[in-house]
Amino acid sequence: MAGIYIHIPFCRKRCSYCDFFFIINTKLKREFLSALKKEISLHSDNYRGEIFDTVFFGGGTPSILTADEISGILTSLKENFRIERSSEISVEANPEDFSRKKTEEYINAGVNRFSFGVQSFIDAELKFLTRQHTSDSAQEVIKFTSSLIKNVSADIIYSLPSQTSEDISYSIDRAVECGVSHISAYSLTYEKGTSLYKSFEKEPAMKNDPSLEAELYLSVSEKIISEGFDHYEVSNFAKKGFESRHNLKYWTYENYLGLGPSSHSFFHKKRWNNPLSFSSYVNSLVNNILPAENIYEPDKNQSELEYIMLGLRSIGIEFGKYEKLFGADFLKKYERSVNDITSKEFAVLTKDNLRLSESGYCLADEIIARYF
Ligand code: SF4
Repeated sequence: MAGIYIHIPFCRKRCSYCDFFFIINTKLKREFLSALKKEISLHSDNYRGEIFDTVFFGGGTPSILTADEISGILTSLKENFRIERSSEISVEANPEDFSRKKTEEYINAGVNRFSFGVQSFIDAELKFLTRQHTSDSAQEVIKFTSSLIKNVSADIIYSLPSQTSEDISYSIDRAVECGVSHISAYSLTYEKGTSLYKSFEKEPAMKNDPSLEAELYLSVSEKIISEGFDHYEVSNFAKKGFESRHNLKYWTYENYLGLGPSSHSFFHKKRWNNPLSFSSYVNSLVNNILPAENIYEPDKNQSELEYIMLGLRSIGIEFGKYEKLFGADFLKKYERSVNDITSKEFAVLTKDNLRLSESGYCLADEIIARYF
């Protein structure tokens, strides 16, 4: 089954480290929602035979939308696509957008998974990241949400300047205490064009060196695993049964349709994206034209490498699926690489699967570049 990603392109202000696509002018919400509904209806004929079982509202800030607006989008999806009754419906949520009432309204609208962009439970770190919530307010809203539904995730950012592993453990402890069943832990990245990058240009020493980053990564992983979470993707941890079904589609080479400006799609072996421009996106749909651009079909070598890379960064290479997709026996083709990385304990080999170990996850990019 396939997934649907919807990019909600609004934020109230730009966080210091963020280079995602969004606009600040929320007055354009109505224009966006009507373009999105047009995009959904223009796509419907192309996916008649498909069944979708995940919908992911990402952004930007999806929680800028009211529950009625979320419900309107879901209704429009159900009118145009076959959406499974038991679908995972996720929303990326900024803690400052939620009151108890709004959380309940979102659940009543059909949302059954919340992914909170907390990043830290230490106020000084939140200030450094220019986030708009406080540790206390985030804890309150996540505790309340977890008391209503179990599928709740928190994002944590680590490797901040002069942050210690105790600081990160403190944030992880608070997330666990709030009852989350999923944690995404990302290291701070310095993207060109962000205000964080400008600070880094003035003061390069603020960025941790790769060896400290690797050390912090291992301590974060160890800590979250010790709390009973499974490390199922390089940056993602879940209690049993609470893996992100939507994100697993990206990592296991399943089809997904992206809607909204800057969204990416992968369907029937083709990849494309929507424009990174609000006006191009809306104008195209006003003229009844789907705004897809950069449509291409990766060649066999490229597809194979993508599959191996995504698999090794997550739940492993499934040999049956590999053979079905690429018509070859993975173990025969990569015998030497597999022997090498398993003997160094970077990966674990079972009858059906090759999966990276904790030390392998830490070196995932190097392993993929060197061995495949
Ligand atoms: S709320 Fe999220 S998408 Fe918006 S600026 Fe901050 S990090 Fe970026």
